[in-house]
Amino acid sequence: MTREVVVVGGGIAGLTALRQVQKQPEVNAVLLEASSHFGGKIRTTNFLGRPVDEGADAFITRVPWGIELCEELGLDSFLISPSTSSAYVLVDGVLRKLPAGLVLGVPTKLLPLMRSRIVGPLAAIRAGFDRFLPDDWPGDDESVGGLIRRRMGDQIAERLVDPLLGSISAGDTDHLDAALGAPQLETAARRNRSLIIGLKEQAKASAHGQTPIFLGFENGMGHLVETLVNSVGDADIRTNTPVTAITRNTGNFVVTTNQSSIECDAVILATPAHQAAQLLATCQPAADRLSSIEHASVAMVTMGFKRSDVGHSLDGSGMLIPRGEGLLTTAASWGSSKWPHWADEEHVILRVSAGRAGDTRALALDDNELVETLLTEVANILEIEGDLVEWRVSRWIDAFPQYAPGHDRLVAAIERDLRSGMPGLFLAGAGYKGIGIPACINQGNQSAEATLDYLKTL
Ligand SMILES: Cc1cc2nc3c(=O)[nH]c(=O)nc-3n(C[C@H](O)[C@H](O)[C@H](O)COP(=O)(O)OP(=O)(O)OC[C@H]3O[C@@H](n4cnc5c(N)ncnc54)[C@H](O)[C@@H]3O)c2cc1C
Repeated sequence: MTREVVVVGGGIAGLTALRQVQKQPEVNAVLLEASSHFGGKIRTTNFLGRPVDEGADAFITRVPWGIELCEELGLDSFLISPSTSSAYVLVDGVLRKLPAGLVLGVPTKLLPLMRSRIVGPLAAIRAGFDRFLPDDWPGDDESVGGLIRRRMGDQIAERLVDPLLGSISAGDTDHLDAALGAPQLETAARRNRSLIIGLKEQAKASAHGQTPIFLGFENGMGHLVETLVNSVGDADIRTNTPVTAITRNTGNFVVTTNQSSIECDAVILATPAHQAAQLLATCQPAADRLSSIEHASVAMVTMGFKRSDVGHSLDGSGMLIPRGEGLLTTAASWGSSKWPHWADEEHVILRVSAGRAGDTRALALDDNELVETLLTEVANILEIEGDLVEWRVSRWIDAFPQYAPGHDRLVAAIERDLRSGMPGLFLAGAGYKGIGIPACINQGNQSAEATLDYLKTL
């Protein structure tokens, strides 16, 4: 008997889930995407005549799901790694190179930290106390900021770890669950008395060898989305089809769109959590729990300059701006240094970000005001004298779910609510078990597996 499955949301999680369920001959799957294109937060468009990412530009290889999908899709030969991994942080208005020995912003080598002048000598000595302080692990639900402040002091938390880790999730590390937002740090701190010793032991045991930590595509991350869409063959996938409601009758679901209603046996809901909350408004308490997940917004301005107009050598992948510097800019990726194929010999490309948890100033500015403010700030830091050759603004509203301490229990409670109130509906995507592309791929696969298991019970 043929079973009907609807996947809601055509980002990387939804597309992966669709690919898995539609491999089963007895499943008829439909994917409904609200916008005019697939990929969600993954979007590659032309800038200065070449494909340049507006959102994600690389994925991490420390977890296998990104590489595995690329291998399945025959994309491994198109993967490339960034040209440089060094980066800078702004301290009291001066760019300082990140020191050797950093792990997610945590300094494991104190001499390079002192030489970097990112923190003062007393703060560097305080960081070194980590090796001698007694084990003071407070138990579960610690924030990343809490962990770093207790082991290494405030300056390490504010000038290194928050700018670096916060830039990944547009978050505030004082409110970011350590176990979910920085599992590597949390495990090292939990299993060892000292964070530094724990990280050094992890490094020794690590079997990553020569594999680059990040991988991207010459034609941008959009290449992954296009290939994934092509791989689902003749599956029914629709853009411009926002789902407006999902209800459950005895035995089946009704998924209502702007055009029609579709009856189905199971649903994979792969929208952001705040949109899932709206679609499940009648399923309480799941909907309230979903809407309690906070989201941060980011505006990214891609800027093109003549290379000769930029005083700084841009010898790194970019710069991070700690909150304490008081700028609107939160980070700038030196795109054409990281990915040299993004620009020709005469031009450079920067991707300048504004907005993070607790800082919504960018939302109040129109595009011209935003570009002008960010341009003034980066021109000052990087000694840029000429005009912009090209620019574009990408606004990512409510795009970054914030994993507050206890987020894993919240997600487990939502899943329990759904098992009893909406059996046959499964969640996937950045809101739940990891925001990076590999984690979203993994959630797509897991939701597909759960769906197929559920269909067997009917
Ligand atoms: C600026 C930026 C930079 C990033 N950089 C990186 C990076 O370098 N590396 C990395 O690993 N990750 C990065 N991320 C994170 C990563 O890209 C995302 O977490 C991931 O792509 C999210 O995938 P998803 O499928 O869960 O959700 P989404 O991509 O948000 O997809 C959800 C889809 O659901 C659709 N939808 C919503 N409501 C409805 C509805 N009612 N009906 C139908 N469809 C609906 C949306 O239109 C969207 O297409 C970045 C994110 C951003 C915003």
